[in-house]
Amino acid sequence: DIEIPESHPRYLSLLTRHRIEEGVEKGITSKQGLIAEGRGEAFDYLLGEETIPSADAAARAAAARLLLAEHPVLSVNGNVAALVPGEMVELADAVGADIEVNLFNRTEERLRAIADHLRDHGASEVKGLTADGRIPGLDHERAKVDADGIGSADVVLVPLEDGDRAEALAAMGKVEIVVDLNPMSRSAQSAAVPIVDNIVRAVPNVTAHARDLSDASREELERIVETFDREAALREAEAAIRGGELA
Ligand code: ATP
Ligand code: MG
Repeated sequence: DIEIPESHPRYLSLLTRHRIEEGVEKGITSKQGLIAEGRGEAFDYLLGEETIPSADAAARAAAARLLLAEHPVLSVNGNVAALVPGEMVELADAVGADIEVNLFNRTEERLRAIADHLRDHGASEVKGLTADGRIPGLDHERAKVDADGIGSADVVLVPLEDGDRAEALAAMGKVEIVVDLNPMSRSAQSAAVPIVDNIVRAVPNVTAHARDLSDASREELERIVETFDREAALREAEAAIRGGELA
């Protein structure tokens, strides 16, 4: 194991990179996940490695959507499992959501390794291995979901999702919450609630908002959902990346 001094100016970035590396070694993250991590880091650097106000508003809207849902599901892939396994379990508990493993490069071995990893971090039930449901409009392997998981969810959180699947899930009428550092990616563009933030900051932030809203009325939650402006959030994130007030 490497030791990263917490005083290092880019501590979080180094820690994140190290967790992804470990994920690959443990067989939970794919090699493509390393590339996705690199792209994410570049955007995070430009964002100032902080949660911008519009991302915080999106996190609050996401919490409200999850609390209002009949059947919310949190989707976990290899990068998410490596970076925030315990944090995803905490969010699932806070909003009463199911957890489902979903992989771009689907292998039984990796599915099982991720499910075990999530259970090691406190998950009681992990979906995604039954694969008896399909997302219309995608090729066979990409289309697989659990019928009683994402297949029947009304609200889905899909962090770091591939653009095709994000669009197909939105086309199925699901309310989609995406965490993606690139506001221009199709995943962020197709989301009802795009959270443009690093997943290591975004997931605990959604959980904190959910806890804060645990006693809120339906009317209050609905008001938060209605006043959130996805176009403005995407615009503000892009402006921050392009250079803040210069944009
Ligand atoms: P598309 O336009 O089809 O969505 P893409 O470029 O987004 O394509 P991928 O490389 O599969 O395709 O997506 C990975 C996405 O995840 C990138 O947008 C990247 O910025 C984002 N990402 C990577 N690491 C993180 C992270 N830690 N937190 C949030 N987002 C991340
Ligand atoms: Mg994408």
